[in-house]
Amino acid sequence: MSTTVTPFQKFVALISFDQENNQIRKQLQDLTSDINNLKQALTNAEHELLVAHDLVKIAQKAVDATELTNQELDATEKTKKNQLDQVQDKKEYAALKKEITYLKEQQHNNELILVQAWTKLETAKQTFEKQKEALNHKIVDIQANINTKQAQILALTQQINNYELERKAKEIGVPAEWLVKYSTMRTRVQNPVVQVVNGSCMACFYDITQQDINALNDNRLVECRGCFRFLYLT
Ligand SMILES: [Zn+2]
Repeated sequence: MSTTVTPFQKFVALISFDQENNQIRKQLQDLTSDINNLKQALTNAEHELLVAHDLVKIAQKAVDATELTNQELDATEKTKKNQLDQVQDKKEYAALKKEITYLKEQQHNNELILVQAWTKLETAKQTFEKQKEALNHKIVDIQANINTKQAQILALTQQINNYELERKAKEIGVPAEWLVKYSTMRTRVQNPVVQVVNGSCMACFYDITQQDINALNDNRLVECRGCFRFLYLT
């Protein structure tokens, strides 16, 4: 066996090199899609936080409204009591008395509503604080994850940028005719060059003729008659 690198070995090396680069491109795609998913998770987390905050605001509004009603009822009661002090007529006095009794009932009911509103507000605040802490941790984690992946993308992109330059060097010594055929084949299939194992093409399992095996042993370019991929023997 010769120790010099044959054109065919150079050709196989070029193909391996291309396949490694395809892997890198695939990794880049995966990383990009990971980052998009992480960004979506970040948006979701921020949205969840806003929703929790909205619940606090709604609970606060309910408290404010009930407190306002309280103040209004107090003010009305005060007015009625003043009127009661000045009234001369017995009938009018009785009517005012009745109104005041009714107001007191309303105040009592409103107090109960206020207690409930306060409880709701406290619960909403506690939930929000808990969620805020958990989500802030989550946001920090996601952001760190995004940064790591962006750094990986940068490194891989640099590798891809060097690819064209390195590839030119790998093409040297490979017959131009093979390069043309290979270039056409690459646009059609992921694995344009396949191994022959036990006399069969490893892509389509077509039986390779003895004549083709001899040609391969001779380091000639042979295409599978089943799938038209280039064949090699190890
Ligand atoms: Zn085949």
